[in-house]
Amino acid sequence: MSKKLPIQKNDYLENAYIEDLTHEGNGVTKIEGYPLFVPNTLPGENANIKVVKTGKNFGFGKLIELNEESKERQDPPCPIYHECGGCQIQHMTYEGQLRTKEKHVREVMKRIGKLEDVTVHPTMGMERPWHYRNKAQVPVGEKDGRFVAGFYQKRSHEIIDMDNCPIQYEKNDEVIQHVKAICQRFGIQPYDETNHTGTLRHIMTRTAYETNEVMVVLVTRTPKLPHKERIVEELVKGIDGLKSIVQNVNSQKTNVIMGDQTEVLWGEEVIYDFIGDIKFAISARSFYQVNPEQTRVLYEKALEYAEIGPDHTVIDAYCGIGTISLFLAQKAKKVYGVEIVPQAIEDAKNNARLNGMENVEFEVGAAEVVIPKWYEEGIRADVLVVDPPRKGCDEALLNTILAMKPEKVVYVSCNPSTLARDLRILEDGGYKTLEVQPVDMFPQTMHVEAVARIELRTE
Ligand code: SAH
Repeated sequence: MSKKLPIQKNDYLENAYIEDLTHEGNGVTKIEGYPLFVPNTLPGENANIKVVKTGKNFGFGKLIELNEESKERQDPPCPIYHECGGCQIQHMTYEGQLRTKEKHVREVMKRIGKLEDVTVHPTMGMERPWHYRNKAQVPVGEKDGRFVAGFYQKRSHEIIDMDNCPIQYEKNDEVIQHVKAICQRFGIQPYDETNHTGTLRHIMTRTAYETNEVMVVLVTRTPKLPHKERIVEELVKGIDGLKSIVQNVNSQKTNVIMGDQTEVLWGEEVIYDFIGDIKFAISARSFYQVNPEQTRVLYEKALEYAEIGPDHTVIDAYCGIGTISLFLAQKAKKVYGVEIVPQAIEDAKNNARLNGMENVEFEVGAAEVVIPKWYEEGIRADVLVVDPPRKGCDEALLNTILAMKPEKVVYVSCNPSTLARDLRILEDGGYKTLEVQPVDMFPQTMHVEAVARIELRTE
């Protein structure tokens, strides 16, 4: 028989104490050990809560009344914060957010990594933690007969119209509003997800941080875009800094935003941006960090930890379009980069050429396959940098690191839990984690990025 839960749906709890914050940004209160997640609450708060859902291991509650507020509470500046779901902790002061992220990293280092005494530094934050995103992509649809473009409502596919987003570059908001108005004026049919009809699916725009160059991408269901020339003409007239207009065709019934077919409608195929001294060409489909200001902070930290000298051979695993590789290549003798997406490697090679760097080599493939192959071919790295996706490094890669024994490993991570898990494997294989630096790439959200400095033990 299943155990009886200490609370039931629709129960009203008075004076519940919020003791923690989940990685999704929900407050946690416990009733006889049973965790109840309560959105829009913060640790240290005392609240009256209505139970809205109970599962076997945890439940969800709704905040009804706050009896005691956290000192870290603030009014979320975004008027649609609670509907959107893009941000999770706008109701917390920025200092509180930075401390939460540091605490989160420290906690998983202990719990998952069994690294009791590793130094976790205070999170490096932004001076102005707003308007930091260089890329906006908004779904287009129809609501009550009106053309709308904005965001999907939390846990639904309903599009809510939006005219500005406080974490976007203001320029992107401006561009989106302009594109919206023009498409509306020319009677472009918004995409209908249910019936798979209509023309315009998404509007995407990217503004380069250092150069202010702008790209607009119109994602359409069909190659045909009515009034194409007139639309282009109006966009060119109305957007300062515009360098590229691209149409991308996605005819599939899918949640994936872009399709395979892209056509330049006006201007260049790419826009250019700089991170530090390095220039990048960014096409409509390129992966490019969305917060370039903090990306620079992150990469400089990675470079500092790598302590690269002019004789060093470096491997950059999960290199994307070569951003970290090119940073490292400024100081190293030779850098090898590996990445699984062929288009990203194309971009990486172009970026190396663009910066006149000849000491880098890129290869397409899985890091856990290519790096063991390099090892067999006799390639030895003095420094190895990894920057894997959320699931962390493949075990085969970690084993190759343990065999190759680079003196230094720098681990850039977007998921502290898998970082901690992988650090434990490296520790057991003869490495020591010296320090971990969290960097805030995504203010107002619960995402945490961290860099770890790891060294081969000498004894
Ligand atoms: N270092 C880059 C990209 C990091 S994102 C930057 O800072 O911009 C992680 C990258 O790992 C993505 O580009 C993804 O395509 C790639 N990737 C995912 N699995 C991989 C694997 N098994 N081997 C190599 N690359 C992989």
